[in-house]
Amino acid sequence: MYPAEFEYFAPRTVDEVLELLARYGEDARILAGGQSLIPMMKLRIATPRYLIDVNGIDSLTGFRQSGDRLVCGALCRHAEIAESPLVRENLPIMMDAAKLTADVQVRNRGTLGGSLAHADPAGDWPAALLALDTEVNITGRDGVRTVRLDELIVDAYTTLIGPDEMLTEVSVPFSRRPCGGAYVKFEKRAGDFAVASVGVQLELDEGGRCRKVAVSLGALGAVPTRARQAEEILQGKAASPDLLREAERLVQNEAQPFEDTRGSVDYKRHLAGVLFRRAFTAALDRARGKEVKTLHV
Ligand SMILES: Cc1cc2nc3c(=O)[nH]c(=O)nc-3n(C[C@H](O)[C@H](O)[C@H](O)COP(=O)(O)OP(=O)(O)OC[C@H]3O[C@@H](n4cnc5c(N)ncnc54)[C@H](O)[C@@H]3O)c2cc1C
Repeated sequence: MYPAEFEYFAPRTVDEVLELLARYGEDARILAGGQSLIPMMKLRIATPRYLIDVNGIDSLTGFRQSGDRLVCGALCRHAEIAESPLVRENLPIMMDAAKLTADVQVRNRGTLGGSLAHADPAGDWPAALLALDTEVNITGRDGVRTVRLDELIVDAYTTLIGPDEMLTEVSVPFSRRPCGGAYVKFEKRAGDFAVASVGVQLELDEGGRCRKVAVSLGALGAVPTRARQAEEILQGKAASPDLLREAERLVQNEAQPFEDTRGSVDYKRHLAGVLFRRAFTAALDRARGKEVKTLHV
């Protein structure tokens, strides 16, 4: 099917985007990688009258290290993250999420900003970045506001970004070493959206105990969430079989999956536990200096 008719704009600056958004409001949509928006337009789930293509705005591209943070422009592509030695060294959980997202064509076009703004409950970026105290910058005509990722996504496909605003930057802190993280996803076919996914980010103390631990759940509810009870029980302790069994049980309890074509509630709860185990083990191995490749389940 062809999309409904629309008027196309290709601004060169964020200010121009904001002017267009102010002029056309809810009738306008930002086009980033187009990997979610264009299929929705072709299916006529989305029928924007004005399309604002932001791909020509240089200030939104790429990523850089700024002090102890990784700062990514909204247009940073999944493939850039997947291939970055800086990310592999410091934030392997992001490397996992990038490599496990879709296929090479989608990874070459799809953007970090688009994935977060789209807020698909099964999206990989929202789930993985939630384990990392991620912040995003949202820019409007009144300036820039910084929002924590756990505040940004308020419901399935729904964020705090207003119709006259755009997401411009994503900022992720590096963890204190020794640290490690991993993101594991179960998909029905290679390149598909997650049936369920789990991210784990750890910092260890000198005794090998969890000084800081974050467990994030994807496709296990309308929005990605943190498994706070599991985090609490792991906090300050060294991993043992009993402790991990208890944490796995808590992860399964905290997951709030819904039944859909990808699986039943019970099946997804079971997966949550299995994926937690795998992500925790990979994160711990990485924190101990072991090289662990992205896990393709
Ligand atoms: C075949 C296929 C398989 C896929 N598999 C996966 C997968 O396994 N995992 C996964 O996570 N994703 C998957 N995706 C989605 C893909 O990752 C998209 O790249 C992503 O969801 C959206 O990013 P985008 O840059 O393409 O955004 P677009 O499609 O351009 O935009 C998506 C939405 O976000 C808005 N938007 C975009 N950028 C901004 C911004 N800076 N500020 C405010 N609003 C903005 C747009 O207006 C639109 O509403 C798949 C897509 C396809 C086509």
